[in-house]
Amino acid sequence: RPRSSPDIDKLLAGDRAELARTITLVESSRPDHRAAAHGLIETVMPHAGKAVRVGITGVPGVGKSTLIDALGAFLIEAGHRVAVLAVDPSSTRTGGAILGDKTRMARLATDPAAFVRPSPSSGTLGGVAGRTREAMLLCEAAGYDVVLVETVGVGQSETAVADLTDTFLVLALPGAGDELQGIKKGVIELADIIAVNKADGPGGERAAAAAADYRAALHILVPGDALWRPPVLLISGLEGTGLDALWGKVVEHRRTLEGAGELAAKRRRQDMKWMWALVEDRIRTRLRSDPGLRERVPSIEARLGEGTLSPAAAADEIASLLGI
Ligand code: GDP
Repeated sequence: RPRSSPDIDKLLAGDRAELARTITLVESSRPDHRAAAHGLIETVMPHAGKAVRVGITGVPGVGKSTLIDALGAFLIEAGHRVAVLAVDPSSTRTGGAILGDKTRMARLATDPAAFVRPSPSSGTLGGVAGRTREAMLLCEAAGYDVVLVETVGVGQSETAVADLTDTFLVLALPGAGDELQGIKKGVIELADIIAVNKADGPGGERAAAAAADYRAALHILVPGDALWRPPVLLISGLEGTGLDALWGKVVEHRRTLEGAGELAAKRRRQDMKWMWALVEDRIRTRLRSDPGLRERVPSIEARLGEGTLSPAAAADEIASLLGI
């Protein structure tokens, strides 16, 4: 049960239980909890923003949780504190797997330097992504310097995760073709790094062939003068191979953006996009809940149905009822 006033000092000191309780408060849709959450986010903002934010996507079964567990353990070994969050608007279950589920990340689940939190379980993509964004800020304030945000390719969730992270990692499988792999159109365009996973044992050769295909695809997609050309790596989350090279690329991507002033610019663009999403969300809420509007809509719809009111005139009436 969320308490409405979390202990900020405990949170800033990195207390995991307090962080978990605070995220529960932030995820609650009760109006008093929402109000408390807004105040809280404002308070922690100056302490947030310092983490390396990495989005990770891939179809169910590609090996996301195995990789996150191995990569997280690797990063903790190197002295980092790692938070794992998830965006899954399709309910908590996707292809039989629960994103950000602790039982799928055995090493991180018990490691005191890790914090694993499943996706908020209900709501629209915007709602779920928004709660994850706030959870990310809280994790950063609690001293986690790496935040991994997991998502599966459902609807627009990859774009939502790319919009809240600095570096976007697309996991692919050995074997040819995006369509065969279930990778949706447009996802490769979001990638800062592509990693062909399961490049181990009998999958090794096919993984190398898939990597060559992705390199060719990127060659066409990415302009020659691009600041960053997404690399294609071979990794095995299961065997833990290629993790140092993978993290090396995350760091290199970040340095490249920073060197060009692009990291700060990217985060500003993300904030701007997020602000407008929040505004649109409020307008939509107003549309559904405005009592005056609810009273008048049946008559407006009836006249539209009879053909005595045009769609444009009907929209005008609704807009003027809302004062816009
Ligand atoms: P997710 O649904 O993307 O989170 O995928 P999982 O991490 O649950 O992995 C799905 C299956 O693939 C499991 O049976 C894993 O053991 C297996 N797997 C994951 N990573 C690797 C890998 O690097 N190599 C091989 N050979 N199998 C893997």
